[in-house]
Amino acid sequence: MRYIDMHCDTLSQALMQQKDTIFELENTMVDVRRLLAAGAGAQFLAMFVPQRNEPGWFDAAEPAAQEELLMKLYGVYVNTLEQHKDVIAAARSIADYRKNQREGKLSAFLTMENGAVAQGKLENIQRFYDMGVRLITLTWNDPNCFGTSHSAEPGQMAQGLTEFGKEAVEYMNELGILVDVSHLSDGGFYDVAKISKKPFVASHSNCRSLCAATRNLTDDMIRILAEKGGVCGINLEPTFVNRNRMDRHTTVEALCGHIEHMRQTGGEDCIGIGTDFDGISGTFEIADCTYLHLLFDALHRKGYSDDLIDKIAFGNVERVIAATL
Ligand SMILES: [Zn+2]
Repeated sequence: MRYIDMHCDTLSQALMQQKDTIFELENTMVDVRRLLAAGAGAQFLAMFVPQRNEPGWFDAAEPAAQEELLMKLYGVYVNTLEQHKDVIAAARSIADYRKNQREGKLSAFLTMENGAVAQGKLENIQRFYDMGVRLITLTWNDPNCFGTSHSAEPGQMAQGLTEFGKEAVEYMNELGILVDVSHLSDGGFYDVAKISKKPFVASHSNCRSLCAATRNLTDDMIRILAEKGGVCGINLEPTFVNRNRMDRHTTVEALCGHIEHMRQTGGEDCIGIGTDFDGISGTFEIADCTYLHLLFDALHRKGYSDDLIDKIAFGNVERVIAATL
């Protein structure tokens, strides 16, 4: 069935496997072939650029290395669109998405996870916009030019956006880039809520009252996000889903629990999907994107109306795209 997924790390996986495109990949949870089989309407594709040397992964401690990594990820995105234009096309607005849908094509929204690569310069944000970036996850798990990340350390968690971060949120509002607070400190979240004139998203986060991970949103944050017209994408990562941190298996039932809590807390207009496919580890009832229908089937069995399931699967995110890009 049609759905929009606000976050996956498949571009990074393709790079690690030294593949030019994400059309057909092995040992991943997403590739274009399977997105088409799953009936996806749009996939947000994150260019994830860390700020450190990840052992056995990426060397991105220095700005030059971050920029190089960004351009490699962008290359995989561009190649995918060029080589498979019959089935997938870029979407930079709601009009592009609707057009792709009319033509029977999957929409690819380009996003950036960790704004560090902006290096504190608005002209870089403009350059990312020109490349087609339509969502920036302001931080990853380190402090950067926008602000600081979620943390178990209360002082860091309370810290807000930097002066550049505040200016950048306004600039992103003007340009039409979605502000994403997943990974951000609580202080940063409240700054975004105060400053952003447009709806913003937590592209891949769950409910902190069901799973105490600092990556998740508190009930107060869910309410504020909803009041601002934003959406939170349900994440499949076991440590963001399960109460017991040792439980490394994500069930459909547990995901339904987060959705139901979000509905009771923020209402039915603030819920979306942000799987975090290819950036998560554990075992999953939803083993890859072709199994996402299990979630919608389960919601149906729980008595959710078709209209409500459509909102969760794609409608709420479509509304945010229309309002922000
Ligand atoms: Zn992430």
